[in-house]
Amino acid sequence: MNPTHETFQQYIDGQFEPGSQHFESLSPATGEAWARMPAATEADVDRAVRAAHRALHAPAWQGLTATQRGKLLHRLADLIARDAPELARLETQDTGKVIRETLAQIGYVAEYYRYYGGLADKVQGAHLPVDKPDIEAYTRREPIGVVAAIVPWNSQLFLSAVKIGPALAAGCTVVLKASEEGPAPLLALARLVHEAGFPPGVLNILTGFGQDCGKALTSHPLVQRIAFTGGPETARHIVHNAAQNLAATSLELGGKSPVLVFNGVDVDSVCNGIVAGIFGASGQSCVAGSRLLVQSGVYDALMARLVARARQIRIGEPHDPATEMGPLATLKQRQHIEQVVQASIEAGATLLTGGQAPADFPLGHYYEPTILACPDARVPCVHTELFGPVLSVLKFDTEEEALALANDSAYGLASGVFTRDLAQAHRMIRQLRAGIVWVNTYRVVSPIVPFGGFGLSGLGREGGLEAVLDYTRTKSVWLNTSDAPIPDPFVMR
Ligand code: NAD
Repeated sequence: MNPTHETFQQYIDGQFEPGSQHFESLSPATGEAWARMPAATEADVDRAVRAAHRALHAPAWQGLTATQRGKLLHRLADLIARDAPELARLETQDTGKVIRETLAQIGYVAEYYRYYGGLADKVQGAHLPVDKPDIEAYTRREPIGVVAAIVPWNSQLFLSAVKIGPALAAGCTVVLKASEEGPAPLLALARLVHEAGFPPGVLNILTGFGQDCGKALTSHPLVQRIAFTGGPETARHIVHNAAQNLAATSLELGGKSPVLVFNGVDVDSVCNGIVAGIFGASGQSCVAGSRLLVQSGVYDALMARLVARARQIRIGEPHDPATEMGPLATLKQRQHIEQVVQASIEAGATLLTGGQAPADFPLGHYYEPTILACPDARVPCVHTELFGPVLSVLKFDTEEEALALANDSAYGLASGVFTRDLAQAHRMIRQLRAGIVWVNTYRVVSPIVPFGGFGLSGLGREGGLEAVLDYTRTKSVWLNTSDAPIPDPFVMR
């Protein structure tokens, strides 16, 4: 092992372990190995799930009041806020996401744990006015069981908070699998989970590859709930694995989110919204506003402003606070983008800016902010999720055309509408087939608001109150308050 490497450990049953197999994590900014990560084996996954299953029923966790569980989540939130600079450094180092974004996002991740800490003792059943004499009927909301949480490489602390927070608030226990790309921040989170004082086995954190670690986790017979974020192809495998045990599953998948811009808008302001949507996080965001639909009256002015703004974006070393766009997380990702951009140009798209790796950064997986004007929706970049800084633009004349283009996608995660016309905004909100509609803003999130998509973008919602209920199961209780003998047993009452 290179002595300059940092080393990370997996966290099972309250213990840090070096692991029996390892892989090297590469820095996206240089392409060089910088850290050694444990690659969890099937046996490690089995131990982690068994630990979570034991913890689920152990007095140290089951015996806590909901308020006490909430306090543990608050403690974890405080520790995340305290160590945000170090967590941000690790995420930037391991994924290439720029430090100004990781620092801001991790500060906000603490708020997710606070929100769910606050909800822990608001999860409640109901007393039911049942239509039988002498019967008290009520429901209890009980933890659903052991949760397998699986996240992709982008924003791992954020994407795991929306799973761990509601799961622990509900009283479940969790085995979290970090992505094999950029797992450092989640393995570092394990140290804070330990320091916060969660009982052993309540939250276990592993990393490893999908085919062995991910498959073993999602097929494990003791897992009752799967919370997955990643691509649709992997989601199909996971649903297949979950079917063995009929584990309840939520899926947060990709997107090809449309942004609709109507005549009469303030071009400078809208330009900032579009740039935030597609070039923030180098476009490696599930909600990236990657399909821009522009009404013809504002098209020329907006495109001129947008191309000029894209060329001003400061590309650089991701740890530099001045950098606005860093490298892509993996070389494979850049190669995929290069292929689709090339195929789109061959299919008739016009490259307005970008379309290559910047010359000043020969190392690492950089790619310039790219804008393609597309003649129609058949061009590959219009319907392929690229997960990178590539904006496909289409022109429209009427509202009907805009809606038809916007809804012409197998995905349905997010959408954006920029308009000065309130009635038009409402018509769009009603008719857009997407789980999120942002009007005159883009890429805003909060723990209080549900998040999730339609169609190939997934199943279920993360965030908000309904997410915590998804980690519970309902028990119905019938209690006979009469002292009279039980009547005729062959008549159902
Ligand atoms: P991916 O689907 O390849 O991997 C995601 C995770 O699944 C990784 O941890 C991986 O190890 C694991 N995995 C792979 N094969 C598995 C298997 N057979 N069984 C169990 N686990 C397995 O996704 P990716 O390339 O890492 O991430 C990009 C995708 O994630 C994009 O499609 C993006 O849109 C999506 N995404 C969605 C959201 C959202 O909230 N909707 C957020 C971020 C990313």
